[in-house]
Amino acid sequence: MRGSTLQHISRVVVVLLSSVLSLPIALAQDAVRLGELESPVDRQALKAQETAGRDRLKILLENPVGTDIQLLRVNPDVVNEATDKLSVPVADGRWVSFQLRNYTAPTSPGNKGVENAAVKHIPAAYWFGDISPDDKGRAPAVPQSAFDTTSFIFLARRGESLRGQMVVNGRLYLLEDVGNGQHGLMATNTALELPCEVLENEPEAQQNAAKKVPVKSGTEAIHNISVLLVTTPATNQMINPYAMDIMTDEIELYNRLNNQGQGLSLNLIVVHKFVSGAKDSVFNGGKKILSDFRNSETEATKKVSELRDKHRADVVIVGARNVSSKEVTYQGARKNTAFFVFNITTPQSFLHGIGHLLGVRHVWKDGDLDFDPSYQHGYLTPVYEGKRYASIGFDPKDCTDANNCQYLYRYSTPKENYMYWPFGDAVHGDEIRRLNERAVEVENFYEGL
Ligand SMILES: [Zn+2]
Repeated sequence: MRGSTLQHISRVVVVLLSSVLSLPIALAQDAVRLGELESPVDRQALKAQETAGRDRLKILLENPVGTDIQLLRVNPDVVNEATDKLSVPVADGRWVSFQLRNYTAPTSPGNKGVENAAVKHIPAAYWFGDISPDDKGRAPAVPQSAFDTTSFIFLARRGESLRGQMVVNGRLYLLEDVGNGQHGLMATNTALELPCEVLENEPEAQQNAAKKVPVKSGTEAIHNISVLLVTTPATNQMINPYAMDIMTDEIELYNRLNNQGQGLSLNLIVVHKFVSGAKDSVFNGGKKILSDFRNSETEATKKVSELRDKHRADVVIVGARNVSSKEVTYQGARKNTAFFVFNITTPQSFLHGIGHLLGVRHVWKDGDLDFDPSYQHGYLTPVYEGKRYASIGFDPKDCTDANNCQYLYRYSTPKENYMYWPFGDAVHGDEIRRLNERAVEVENFYEGL
């Protein structure tokens, strides 16, 4: 009798102990919260705070696509390789969980990054993940293991500050440090995006046509495109965040999204960062900035041209302030036109804009001219269950019903499906083929020189 009671007690102790012991494991599997919500404040009230001197709100308020902003007290420690699962609030009050795909430590020693004062740049730690399987609304026929381009998050940590972009069911949110110990998570409306300003290359004489370089075998070869990153006096004076950091983060996100197993392996590699004295004012904005760099019209841009040759940078990306479009660049740039004027107020446009420079056009519509090659366009699917899905090269202005087009944040290819149908069209929408072919040309701009 006594023996069986003891046995029972010991069993209870074992059960209790094992549940206590398993507790830390259960906690470790729970999502870590990005931070705590502050009381809601409307956009107008935030605008009034900015006018009254809270300058750090500008980074969000100046962005043309911004809508509601939720203030948060973030825990910057969540940007860590030990964070497997991260949960973030969205506009409807839900918290959405993301699973870690990729963590990158800062390039310089120390977990928090060390500032490089000369170019105003702080290396960041990056946390990149897509929606957690428990939180899906994942599309059918997308394997659990595949990266989900409808819902993902990209965070950059510099000290106690976070910056980031989050996409939930195609809706983009931007995260910035707005000072006073607060961060702002801003919902966006991509229908408010600025237009593109994309120039065509001048016709080339046949004998001067860009030499054809042999295409590397297979699509798996990684194409490394070297980038010279440049600021102007107007963007170099930015602090919190630095213009150089904004551009670096976009390039980092671009590289992450390009390497998710959809047949494109394209990396932008920043080979040099430079603080230029190039003109960037209301009288010398947009196309004039591009022209100044492209033609080395001033001493400041001559210097950039020398640096480009010295560092053999295939592409020059200029972070500028006086730009009234998403970007100013050339369509399918050649070596002498490979300049990209990055609009610092709408950094999320970089994903789309750099596609133009590399050779992607907006979606092809019935009756449009065929370019050579004809497949160099973005893609918009037919209506599937009441919705159409768009690739990165798609321009929101081509959406006939703004509520009905959802970005997938991936390039088109007829070789991959979305839902049960090919996400691309071999005749008019194969951005991955176009980019793989163009990347070989662009990475060889300095070949043999
Ligand atoms: Zn465009």
